[in-house]
Amino acid sequence: MFGQNVFNQAVMRERLPKAVFKNLKKTIDEGLPLDPTIADVVATAMKEWAIEKGATHFTHWFQPMTGITAEKHDSFISPSEGGALMEFSGKELIKGEPDASSFPSGGLRATFEARGYTAWDCTSPAFVREEGEVITLCIPTAFCSYTGEALDKKTPLLRSMEALSKQALRVLKLFGNTTATRVTSTVGAEQEYFLVDKGFYLERPDLMMAGRTLFGAMSSKGQELEDHYFGSIKERVLAYMKEVNEELWKLGVTAKTQHNEVAPGQFEIAPIFENTNIATDHNQMIMDVLKRIALRHDLVCLLHEKPFAGVNGSGKHNNWSMSSNDGQNLLEPGNTPHENAQFLTFLMATIKAVDTHAGLLRCSCANAGNDHRLGANEAPPAIISIFLGEQLADILDQIVAGATKSSSKNADMKIGVKTLPALPKDATDRNRTSPFAFTGNKFEFRMLGSSFSISGPNIIINTIIADALKEFADKLEKSKNFDADLEKLLQETAKKHKRVVFNGNNYADEWVKEAKKRGLLNIPSTPEALKELVKKEAVELFVAHGVFNDKELHARYEIMLEQYVKTLNIEALTMIDMAKQSIIPAAADYATTLAASITAVTAVSGKLNVSAQKETLEELCDKLGAMNNNVKALEKALEKALDISDVVKQAAAFREKVFSAMLELRANGDALEKIVAANIWPLPTYREMLFIL
Ligand code: ADP
Ligand code: MG
Repeated sequence: MFGQNVFNQAVMRERLPKAVFKNLKKTIDEGLPLDPTIADVVATAMKEWAIEKGATHFTHWFQPMTGITAEKHDSFISPSEGGALMEFSGKELIKGEPDASSFPSGGLRATFEARGYTAWDCTSPAFVREEGEVITLCIPTAFCSYTGEALDKKTPLLRSMEALSKQALRVLKLFGNTTATRVTSTVGAEQEYFLVDKGFYLERPDLMMAGRTLFGAMSSKGQELEDHYFGSIKERVLAYMKEVNEELWKLGVTAKTQHNEVAPGQFEIAPIFENTNIATDHNQMIMDVLKRIALRHDLVCLLHEKPFAGVNGSGKHNNWSMSSNDGQNLLEPGNTPHENAQFLTFLMATIKAVDTHAGLLRCSCANAGNDHRLGANEAPPAIISIFLGEQLADILDQIVAGATKSSSKNADMKIGVKTLPALPKDATDRNRTSPFAFTGNKFEFRMLGSSFSISGPNIIINTIIADALKEFADKLEKSKNFDADLEKLLQETAKKHKRVVFNGNNYADEWVKEAKKRGLLNIPSTPEALKELVKKEAVELFVAHGVFNDKELHARYEIMLEQYVKTLNIEALTMIDMAKQSIIPAAADYATTLAASITAVTAVSGKLNVSAQKETLEELCDKLGAMNNNVKALEKALEKALDISDVVKQAAAFREKVFSAMLELRANGDALEKIVAANIWPLPTYREMLFIL
């Protein structure tokens, strides 16, 4: 089953003429320019393969700045002598022209100049997608404007991979490597998600419009018993996971690990790592499949970063490394890392990059949803730091002190039960709280939100590490005494950047204070974090490595600010609707019921105790009045924010005024939920949504 819906290298080898296959393989494996003359032959083979699979349509599959994927389907039909032929030309394979006017462009393209082009990315394999009876050939593509500016998340990612490869190869050469011709960054992205019963979802305007609950009192039980995490998986969920895995395997996605996550109703899926471009495409496919298959089980999959206040939110762990095409993982320490100068050089470049560009990394994980997680006590704080673990931290100290002499050894671990096997001990324990943790032979960037395209964060990681490697290479290529100069360079770098290394508990308050002392950034919100993208240093960095030009960067800044504003606007409007149309009317109904009860009971006898009804009624009317005021306050804050024409100021107003008004309104609604009769309350509760699966 694995890969049966993928036009992969095995299929190409079988179906393409030898010369064409070899030619294409050069582009795929070695990054050489695509030879356009082979397009017709590849297109024909691809079409025949897809038609055998039952496809009638093809689509260029691309990743506009919405963060999700986009597609426009065309059939293979071409009229011929009153009948029709199934045709697909090289031209159609290589280039598409969707009407691009309605995608976010940040001013790169006005609606009256709508031309946008999609260009075939042959380095990510085409695939057919089955949706019931409908089978479509999907061709991964990059998306750009008439003037060649990137309008998508793939183009700059590919550019950043080129930049990293170029600089990493320079460094490898210095270590005498003559075999590697390409270095690729590799990524394994762990994906968290929630499942809710579709019936409840349909009764929650907030889940439907905003992807998260905007009201909802916490249930009496949450995640405190820690009985959900890694618990046995319920049958309904297992059946869902089985279908998800099968669908992904057919698409060539190596779905590997699955388990219950911390919050009730929360789960994780992780594939095996692969090159960053394909990993990014595959993560999009994973999110798409998770959502589509859920509906078949009368479930809805929520990818929002914080669907339920009060329990854990969802993130995405981006495991990142670099490997050369002669088979080395450049972040593999070996058994004695202190002797492995090449490893230490790549490690120090990473430390330098993360410290120098912490603001950009923070920025890459900023969106309205993730603001609920970063800095809250469940996700890494908004402060960027690196966890190295005992062994490497010790080596870092040795580098700072002068020379590296030893690597602490890993003894066997004794469990104390004779019948159990002795386990070889890892060089270091795990740290679950660090935003950027070394985990053996890769770094795990843990700040990403669950709904993200992983492209943005990886563009940043690739580029900042390329830049650090470039600086190293610039210096060392001139060196007359490589060993001595390398040692000096590593020592200088370690001294300068070791402040970013922190091996303790990142959730502790003391760390926030300590980080401040060390001069590390702590950026709490999206509007603030996004500013990092257009700082002078950032613009210079991206331009120098050919990843973004100035215009593209500013466009992205604007798009992300707009997305932030639009998200909060939708949330605020949905809250106002829910308050006015559901919560206030239900609370008023209950007030009527209570009042009627008081009148009726008192009519029977003035001596009967109606204190419960009276006290509840009093509390209810107080809260109802307060709610009315809070709705008006939110409406006003919203109106004012919407009036601001400068999007930077507008985003700030949404964060400072609208968001806080929403918090107050929510507190109010949740307090009402606690006193209104369950049979009158109009919305499914946390108990139902989190515990009925
Ligand atoms: P965790 O313990 O954090 O839950 P998992 O085992 O679920 O970790 O996921 C680890 C991820 O890291 C997997 O996707 C795995 O394929 C990936 N990974 C392993 N080696 C590399 C590497 N060299 N580069 C990138 N990712 C890697
Ligand atoms: Mg992880």
